Amino acid sequence: MLKRLVNDYSGSSFRACTFGGHPHMDQNPDVLLAAIDTAVELGADRNKVCVMAPASGPADYHFKKVSAASTTTSLESRVWADGVYTTEIGAAVIMPSADCQFIVMKNLVTNCLVVGHGGKPAMRTWELVNLSEMHAGPGPTEIRRLSIIDQCLDYAVRRAFPNNVHVHLANTIGARHYAHDDARTAQDRDYFWRYYGPEVFYDQDQAAGRLDLKAMSRRRLLDRNVPTGNISDDGQCTVCHPDLVSYRAKRQTSERNIGIAINLPVKESTY
Ligand SMILES: [Zn+2]
Repeated sequence: MLKRLVNDYSGSSFRACTFGGHPHMDQNPDVLLAAIDTAVELGADRNKVCVMAPASGPADYHFKKVSAASTTTSLESRVWADGVYTTEIGAAVIMPSADCQFIVMKNLVTNCLVVGHGGKPAMRTWELVNLSEMHAGPGPTEIRRLSIIDQCLDYAVRRAFPNNVHVHLANTIGARHYAHDDARTAQDRDYFWRYYGPEVFYDQDQAAGRLDLKAMSRRRLLDRNVPTGNISDDGQCTVCHPDLVSYRAKRQTSERNIGIAINLPVKESTY
């Protein structure tokens, strides 16, 4: 069993746990095997455990990509995507991160469980990508993509109404510690202010740019008709909690927190 269990959330038909501060899987493959063992101890079927590769950036092929879960037994068989879905009961999805949101969605009608990796770039709906190598053009080109919340929800809401989707948000840096106050991030600040609203800034202060990732997720979920009562969060902060690691607080850290989500049967009483 992994050490430092920080969050153990049991939703109506899924379980979401977070274990703080473990070596990066790429540098220590034993962590991957220990995480798989832990998912099994928490109730998952060993043949249905899927591990997500590290989060991507806008230039990566798997940026904001959502893929079907597949069985992971080694570093090589991790899934290269920022979102993973499965309808198999007993399946587990493992997601290492340090500050990015561990987003877990569940459709109570279809049993589809979706896990998303929600960092700041994944919450934008545009990217400036340099396509000059492909087009011999003058430089960066703006392209449009949905936020990771929308990407995941497109899978989670299929064949049901949004009020049948439950969402848990965990393992994220608190807004108070997540400052973006330099010139380089002015464009992001302005964008997030206009797109999500002042409520996603700590103290509603655009200049300080302390972004609340979970508030952004809630905003999009509410805009897409997921009821507020269906959305929960762990109330933790990766900077404040002694057992969690924050990439922004400790720039040099290679440690990651490990989220494990397990797909469980829907209890009849929740209908
Ligand atoms: Zn904090």
